[in-house]
Amino acid sequence: MNLNAPAQIANYIGGALVAPVGGRYIPNINPATGETYSQTPDSDAQDVDAAVAAAKAAFPAWSVTPAEERFRLLNRIAELIDANLDALALAETNDNGKPLWLSKKVDIPRASSNFRFFATGIMHFSTDSHNMEDKAINYTLRQPVGIVGCISPWNLPLYLFTWKIAPALAAGNCVVAKPSEVTPMTAYLLSIICQEAGLPAGVLNILHGTGPGCGSAMVAHPAIKAISFTGSTRAGRDIAATAAPMFKKISLELGGKNPNIIFADCDWDKMMRTTIQSSFSNQGQICLCGSRILVEESIYEKFKEEFIARVKKLTVGDPLDENSKQGAVVSNMHFDKVRSCIDLALQEGGKILTGGNVVKLSGRCENGLFIEPTVIEGLGANCRTNMEEIFGPVVTLQSFKTEDEALQLANTSDYGLSATIWTQDISRANRVAAKVGSGIIWVNCWLLRDLRTPFGGFKNSGVGREGGWEALRFFTEPKNVCIEL
Ligand code: NAD
Repeated sequence: MNLNAPAQIANYIGGALVAPVGGRYIPNINPATGETYSQTPDSDAQDVDAAVAAAKAAFPAWSVTPAEERFRLLNRIAELIDANLDALALAETNDNGKPLWLSKKVDIPRASSNFRFFATGIMHFSTDSHNMEDKAINYTLRQPVGIVGCISPWNLPLYLFTWKIAPALAAGNCVVAKPSEVTPMTAYLLSIICQEAGLPAGVLNILHGTGPGCGSAMVAHPAIKAISFTGSTRAGRDIAATAAPMFKKISLELGGKNPNIIFADCDWDKMMRTTIQSSFSNQGQICLCGSRILVEESIYEKFKEEFIARVKKLTVGDPLDENSKQGAVVSNMHFDKVRSCIDLALQEGGKILTGGNVVKLSGRCENGLFIEPTVIEGLGANCRTNMEEIFGPVVTLQSFKTEDEALQLANTSDYGLSATIWTQDISRANRVAAKVGSGIIWVNCWLLRDLRTPFGGFKNSGVGREGGWEALRFFTEPKNVCIEL
């Protein structure tokens, strides 16, 4: 099996690696070097039709393949991902700009965990039975939805792609999946792994292309019965507008503007260490990053001083250098967006405490897209900087006097994905956790993930939940059978 990045990526349809029908390609750029190092298919509705036809042909057999065999195949894919950690991590880093150590430690191991988790999960999935005493008995079947679409973003490419595909396949669906056109390489390499693992042809089909060109054709295709999407709130809204009148099942995991609420009684060292991570991991390009840091007034100055000192030590550098704490941001378009957000913060009256500048590296990375980790204060809760998602290495500081004020600031957002609470007062932790309008709350930790827990957001952060049984329920249709006794 050759897992070197090719100069030209192919779609994976009906078990074969094929060129896009229209013959068009998009350049794939390494954001750390600026180099175009491969070409990605610019697929369109014709490729979606071919993938759907392959999935349809595979569905009758796959949907009745015993769970034990689905387990075996998905587990085999997990093993092959683990065995090829180095090649996959390098591909992820070259596509995305994230430090190689991060791809090795987080992204790729999580991709194999996703397959392993849902491979074993399907062996334990059970359904309800409702007994009407001596009148009747009901039992509920959970049948695969059919052909489903999975669309994922660029920030955690293989990690989030597999988080959707694994439960969809485990539940007996055939899948048409599209990774982000900005980071297609590891999804392409997954096609080769699936071939090697012996996944039957057409069970999983991977298309490459843009949102408007390929993603929207998937969403509009009448044979695709469910869409699991992770990405921006803007695209989520478009997808809902197309899918809702077609009565498709939709799961939308969208943007975030998450509060990191720090009370004076926190475990200082742990809070400080974790807040550096929750602010800037993956260049701040994680939907769960705590981009609004809310600090109790009595410790605000102390926090500010130590936080800034630590942020200044975060080395921005070549993602292949193991000493780099921060790599490149993902694309030219995103680089411009983050810079314009920093300009906007200044126009709104914000003060940059550290960062705010582009970083120019020399040598291999002289044309790379690097931005200093940036901390901004002096802005109100309702300004655009504190309301709109930046999704880059930029955080703001605000102070609060009381628990009520902390909650008010935390909930001044159209988003509601996650929140972190730092306090040693367990009653307060529970009180605040119950009142913050977010789907995922961490107390005295961040990004600690148990794959069985429901994952998703309130408000503009999305609809539906992923993870554990929630994902297997999404990818199945319940059917109740009532038998009169
Ligand atoms: P994006 O919405 O631009 O693209 C995401 C994916 O959707 C890509 O594959 C893209 O090609 C496709 N797409 C775009 N428009 C589409 C359309 N109209 N129809 C169908 N497909 C379409 O998002 P992005 O810039 O790749 O990712 C960043 C966003 O993702 C941020 O907002 C971030 O918060 C969010 N995100 C959310 C989660 C979560 O779990 N809630 C996780 C990671 C990222």
